Amino acid sequence: MAKSRRENRAKRVNLTRDWQKGDFDDEHTLRERWTREGSEPRQKVKKKNQHEFDYINSFIGMVLEVHRRTCTVQNLETKELINCRYGVSITTEEHRLPAVGDKIKATKEIISGDFYAVEVLPRKSALVRPGPDDRYNKKLVLAANIDQVVVISSVLEPDFNYGFVDRFLLAANLSNLDLTIILNKIDLVSEIPEELEEFKNVAKIIPISAQNKKGLDALTEVLKDKVSVFSGQSGVGKSTIIRKIIPGLDIKTGEVRIKDGRGRHTTTASSLFELPFGGQVIDTPGIRGLGLLNLPVQELAIIFPGFEDLYQNCKFNDCSHTHEPGCAVIEAIENGKLSVARYHSYLRIMDSINTQRT
Ligand code: GDP
Ligand code: ZN
Repeated sequence: MAKSRRENRAKRVNLTRDWQKGDFDDEHTLRERWTREGSEPRQKVKKKNQHEFDYINSFIGMVLEVHRRTCTVQNLETKELINCRYGVSITTEEHRLPAVGDKIKATKEIISGDFYAVEVLPRKSALVRPGPDDRYNKKLVLAANIDQVVVISSVLEPDFNYGFVDRFLLAANLSNLDLTIILNKIDLVSEIPEELEEFKNVAKIIPISAQNKKGLDALTEVLKDKVSVFSGQSGVGKSTIIRKIIPGLDIKTGEVRIKDGRGRHTTTASSLFELPFGGQVIDTPGIRGLGLLNLPVQELAIIFPGFEDLYQNCKFNDCSHTHEPGCAVIEAIENGKLSVARYHSYLRIMDSINTQRT
């Protein structure tokens, strides 16, 4: 009996997935892969050795940006930027998707002449987006091999965005990375609001005024000799800060040439900055937003940093740590064992997840 279109599609998707994982070994060059109708099988050609890589002339590069099918890679030796394709060409099973900051081995594919990422080298660290696994059943890695996450915010114009900072705090905590908050435009206020001061307990906070060059020494000290990922909403002064710490840099016109395997050149805005005092800053569009859309509230109550040794002692095992009697988290706050600031972050994140749902 003929199967429904939906069933046939599901079968195709499963087969493709197996093939991508390498579980599906097709020995025949021409073979009936799946049938639409029993009477009229569709023949599909699967070419053997679709890719032939020139392994001898491979190079090691660093991933600066990740797009749907390609990634922008900087050749670590020549400093050239090259667009590389990625996907099933990557042999390392655990890193199918390259992330910003990844070191990869890339080379030319002989037939097409395109550059491909063929291997993602082991990661030193990874900034992981909290939440359910992505389609390769791995956590989505937003950035790799970084030393710290730096969130840029402003006290005013635009207002300090707690939700934005909280999410990065959660992600950095889960990924065992340090979080630094640059608090810009302090020239606009007479003093730093108390609620904001509270972040001191959970992150490094550097008040600056990029315009008046205040606090830049403290910032330099934090960034020196480290690989930092910058993230901030537009308008907070990120470009101003980068311009102040790298004198002589003009990011608006700081376009760099990028080439593909066929020798075609295009330009792109630079997203990796070498600091004159040592260290690097990665400023990339890919990690500007950090959605927690699919994170269930119950999971947040368990994974929230600092709660891991506590939630099992709560009276109810689905405790949301807000109003329940016998809550070990609330008890820890009362005993001063858990920071109030961190608990506020938790409440705000939970609140934002709840409002997304409704
Ligand atoms: P970006 O979108 O984060 O790159 O922000 P910009 O660097 O373009 O800055 C946005 C606006 O904020 C500009 O009008 C800047 O002049 C202003 N700005 C940047 N730093 C400061 C600061 O320290 N104090 C004040 N008052 N304004 C600033
Ligand atoms: Zn509880």
